[in-house]
Amino acid sequence: MISPLMPNYNRADLAFEHGEGAWLFDKAGRRFLDFGSGIATSSLGHGHPHLTRAIAEQAKRVIHVSNLYRIPGAELMAQRLVEASFADSVFFCNSGAEANEGLVKAMRKTMSDAGQPERIRIICFDGAFHGRTLAMLSATGNPKYQAGFGPAVDGFDHVPFNNLNALRAAITPQTAGILIEPIQGEGGIRSASVQFLRDLRATCDEFGLLLGLDEVQTGMGRTGKLFAYEWAGIEPDVMSLAKGLAGGVPMGAVLAKERVARALVPGSHGTTFGGGPLACAAGNAVLDVLLAPGFLDEIAATGGYLQAGLEKLCQDYPSVFTEVRGQALLAGVKCAVPNTDLQNAAVAEGLLTVAAGDNVLRLIPPLIVRQAECDEALARLGRAARHVQPAALEMAK
Ligand code: PLP
Repeated sequence: MISPLMPNYNRADLAFEHGEGAWLFDKAGRRFLDFGSGIATSSLGHGHPHLTRAIAEQAKRVIHVSNLYRIPGAELMAQRLVEASFADSVFFCNSGAEANEGLVKAMRKTMSDAGQPERIRIICFDGAFHGRTLAMLSATGNPKYQAGFGPAVDGFDHVPFNNLNALRAAITPQTAGILIEPIQGEGGIRSASVQFLRDLRATCDEFGLLLGLDEVQTGMGRTGKLFAYEWAGIEPDVMSLAKGLAGGVPMGAVLAKERVARALVPGSHGTTFGGGPLACAAGNAVLDVLLAPGFLDEIAATGGYLQAGLEKLCQDYPSVFTEVRGQALLAGVKCAVPNTDLQNAAVAEGLLTVAAGDNVLRLIPPLIVRQAECDEALARLGRAARHVQPAALEMAK
């Protein structure tokens, strides 16, 4: 008989009762060091006093009013995101896939408003992940996720990652823009080179295309800057955010330059829950922490420390770990054994991680993680490696 909760996930047999900082506890009192953060989402960790207080106080006042009315918390949060980014205006929604849908609609409508309604196609990249809605399955372009769900939504072309010649060859008179993750998260922590991102910006300018960044996973401080595009010194025309945006309260956003934002006139796009008082109270609390002086630098420093520790693990266990990837607290390590074996061995050591594509294991702790907790995680991952090592040595024979 089917379970009442639809069985569309492969869940580990673990249930957490509460959390504190970078730690999660189950009912039996077992402690787990959370280097998964609910897939890069619990940005302030668990039970953060500033975040929980903001949510509780807002819940007491009013949770939801709809976008028929002004929402002061949304106006404030949008203002803060605009001041801290390339963007002139922000649309709030509820998830990463929904943010990407809004981003693509805004790109197409911008072209249509400019008298080029034929420009509807978006160039995406092999290995991308943009979400699970029908259109985002096509933007993702991975047959693994598309199988059985009928015809692909038209309008998405795919080219190899970090390959400028292939990208330029894919541009047609119907191209509206480009959509790229600065670091592919689900695809295996694969970084776009700084040069590639700069070339994409230049190519968009040359051909009159829009540059869209999916910073659902890379954004909100995870790479040590508020947004990953800052490392390349470029600006997109439009960008999607979600995951860490409200510290675990569902929230997504589309940030856009004025020309793109103006395309979404009243009635053209919307969502019931988007930018509601509760999510914005959480989002503003996250911004209070992220924008406090020195906090992003601390992420960069702690992330560098974690990555150096992972490099050491690669040296110590070359039959298990082969390469460190990513930036700051969006870290990944390529495995020579099945990444899920390591993930399971890490759970047995009380460490939570997340598997990614390309046989990579992601280490994506809350942004408030301390160096001592990184040391602890690295020690536990080392023990997990020792458990899977005999199998790895066997495989190498
Ligand atoms: N875009 C990126 C880069 C992601 O990593 C994800 C989720 O993993 C999504 C979009 C989809 O976000 P959501 O699951 O909130 O729809």
